[in-house]
Amino acid sequence: MNSRTQARTRALFAAHALLPEGWRTGVLLEWNDAGTLVTVKPDTTNPHAIPAAAGPIIPGMPNLHSHAFQRAMAGLTEYRANPSDSFWSWRELMYRFAQRITPETLGAIARWLYVEMLKAGYTSVCEFHYVHHAADGSRHANPAELAQRVVDAASETGIGMTMLPVLYQYSGFNAQPSRHDQRRFVNTTHDFLALLSALRDARPEHGALRYGVAPHSLRAVSEASLRDVIEALDAMSPGAPVHIHIAEQTAEVDASLAALGARPAQWLLDRFDVNARWCLVHATHIDAKETRALAQSGAIAGLCLTTEANLGDGIFPAMDYLDAGGAFGIGSDSHIAVDWRAELRLLEYGQRLARRERNVLASRDTAHVADRLFRGALAGGARATGRGVGALQEGARADWLVLDADHPNLAGQTSATWLSSAVFCEHGQTPVRDVFVGGERVVQDRRHRAEARHYADYRRALSHVLAND
Ligand code: ZN
Repeated sequence: MNSRTQARTRALFAAHALLPEGWRTGVLLEWNDAGTLVTVKPDTTNPHAIPAAAGPIIPGMPNLHSHAFQRAMAGLTEYRANPSDSFWSWRELMYRFAQRITPETLGAIARWLYVEMLKAGYTSVCEFHYVHHAADGSRHANPAELAQRVVDAASETGIGMTMLPVLYQYSGFNAQPSRHDQRRFVNTTHDFLALLSALRDARPEHGALRYGVAPHSLRAVSEASLRDVIEALDAMSPGAPVHIHIAEQTAEVDASLAALGARPAQWLLDRFDVNARWCLVHATHIDAKETRALAQSGAIAGLCLTTEANLGDGIFPAMDYLDAGGAFGIGSDSHIAVDWRAELRLLEYGQRLARRERNVLASRDTAHVADRLFRGALAGGARATGRGVGALQEGARADWLVLDADHPNLAGQTSATWLSSAVFCEHGQTPVRDVFVGGERVVQDRRHRAEARHYADYRRALSHVLAND
């Protein structure tokens, strides 16, 4: 190491840290100006009196699915509007809400949302961004205007981002014409690729920013446009992430069977090289054959438990999928909750309620459910971001959380149960105390460094988007 590099390296000592091999003590972390870990060394005694972390350290959690603007409508659809309220009636309300979003309000909502994510311990987000055009459907002078506001919100707040502009073309299978209230979302494949190009030129990739694509769903794109977009993506950025909504609703599965002659996950697995670059969001309704095939593909099942519960989607076959070795990650999606602990808890609780058993998602190797789910969500979520995150190891991003070992739910315990208590206990204040992203401490003592300013902007944005309610 030359003196110049040494001068630029920063360091932290952790009495306890969760490394890929498990909990270790006396861990020295060093990282460079680019936000990359260059040293992760356990069993040290901190001879140089390097600053010590305020508690045990765990990797930051990737959030693999977000529609940022929906944060501002959380809580506003929790009333019965008709006798058969469902995802589909919620979607009507969401579309009406989406009409009110402007570039300014979107930026402010996204900034506040990312402050909330960081405080909860999400250090990366995959943004499945589909509101592209002005409210009347006309194009912005910069076709990537709205997506760029979201990218800027990530860099201003300090969260790592995988921006996935959404290709949306049809209102249903067999190329049904898009609806009037979908006009802000719709692009030709050519225009979509121009949008992605404009965005990449205006905001080039760096250590905290990556691009991929999100064909919205098999309802909203054709086989041909799906192939075209992946081919074009590979020409720009080989192997970049591809995320798609796959099987959130039973009505969607029925429509897929009628239109394509196959269930959506099966159809995709049969026709495309579905591998580790893919994230299948809401793989809720997959049968036993699809469960095995998806697990073997290496693709990530994108699970958004609190949203799926809120929308009454159904229960993902988590036990069978994990038993088959399937990879998964978690997302806060509609942001009815923004907390990885709540997502992991609900992943297990869905299985407990359905099976009337406890500790269903433990494995032969990992008896503690929270440990297994945390590690699984880290690994799968990291892969879904297409970025080098999700582990405290040399070469990875310097993203971690400092837990509060004096929190009433962790006090008096050892590393054997810290994650269990953090995930399953809920008594007010979060046990996540400090948050580092790319080596920068963006949250200290549960406060984001620019929290007051972003909240003031969010309140102003709310007064615009909720004005007529
Ligand atoms: Zn979604």
